[in-house]
Amino acid sequence: MQPLSSRISKYPGVEVTPDDVKAKRYLMTLYRTELRYAWSSGVATGRFLKGLKDGQIWGRRCDRCERVMVPPRMYCERCYRPTDSWVRLRDTGKVVTYSIAYVNFDASRRKDPILVAVVEIDGASPLMGILHLLGEVEPDKVKIGMRVQAVWKETGERLGAITDIRYFKPGGGKV
Ligand SMILES: [Zn+2]
Repeated sequence: MQPLSSRISKYPGVEVTPDDVKAKRYLMTLYRTELRYAWSSGVATGRFLKGLKDGQIWGRRCDRCERVMVPPRMYCERCYRPTDSWVRLRDTGKVVTYSIAYVNFDASRRKDPILVAVVEIDGASPLMGILHLLGEVEPDKVKIGMRVQAVWKETGERLGAITDIRYFKPGGGKV
């Protein structure tokens, strides 16, 4: 049997040419679509984001390697097995690495820098942390290992997003 396309010699209907359009031989209408979309954050990230809305940071523990992972995941990539339980973590931690950024996301220059850091969260395994902003600190005072504490948005302002934490500020006491 021949493929369908080779059996088609002529399409039904009348072809509209660019000249027809220019000459306005056909009705044209402009229509602005209003597209909405949604996606699932998944089990682990969904619970993590719900926790943020409640002002809490949740991690996920693997009983085999005994790691507590944050952001949480349902599968341990080290052990090749599902993770086992939820662990509520503190909203404090320490700066693992940081950057003093004089450019915005669109590469435009900033006069005052933003301070971007990976914060290792207390109660999670070493180097498990959250990429976030630092605040209430001068750039030259930021140090690796510096203790920090989350500054949360007010309860009614939180949306279940990482931005429910405004930034991390120096503090958090000893572990
Ligand atoms: Zn594991």
